[in-house]
Amino acid sequence: MAVAYIGLGSNLSSKHNNQLLSPQAQLEQALRSLSENPQIDVLNQSSFYQTVAIGPGQQPDYINAVAKLETDLKPIELLDLLQSIEKQQGRERTIRWGARTLDLDILLYDKLTENSSRLILPHPRMHERNFVLAPLMELAPQLEFGDGKNIAELLANCSMQGIVKL
Ligand code: ATP
Ligand code: MG
Ligand code: MG
Repeated sequence: MAVAYIGLGSNLSSKHNNQLLSPQAQLEQALRSLSENPQIDVLNQSSFYQTVAIGPGQQPDYINAVAKLETDLKPIELLDLLQSIEKQQGRERTIRWGARTLDLDILLYDKLTENSSRLILPHPRMHERNFVLAPLMELAPQLEFGDGKNIAELLANCSMQGIVKL
């Protein structure tokens, strides 16, 4: 079994099973889908954070969180599952970093490093994102990265502007 950390984000509502899901409800629904999968145990989840969008143009604020999973899925199988959950919840890919109903990224998968066309591990932009580091710090305050840096250091060097813990 591997331990993986998943970053969750949403800044758009959409209909799911005839219910309109707000961004926070999108994250809750995604966590339910993950925990219903027989090959996944959701071990822990962070608080939700409201964060100002960093993508192109004017976008609604995001709701972000991180979840800790135990799984026997291989990394690429986990990515397939995350993308199918994104799709079930109305994810459309138009503009890069545009507004979305659901984004599920693999932040870390054990201590694996990977650099394939579909999957880069650890997630290449997580180290500079307050909306990843702050929730991840709740779940893994002792986390060390390959380059010798630890999460507390990265978080200390990251601006906390535009992020509020809910
Ligand atoms: P960012 O990666 O900056 O957070 P994003 O999440 O908006 O951007 P997406 O449109 O969700 O980007 O995904 C684009 C592609 O990124 C996916 O098709 C996927 O193959 C690839 N990808 C590479 N590494 C990862 C990873 N660790 N987790 C999720 N997707 C990844
Ligand atoms: Mg992302
Ligand atoms: Mg993504």
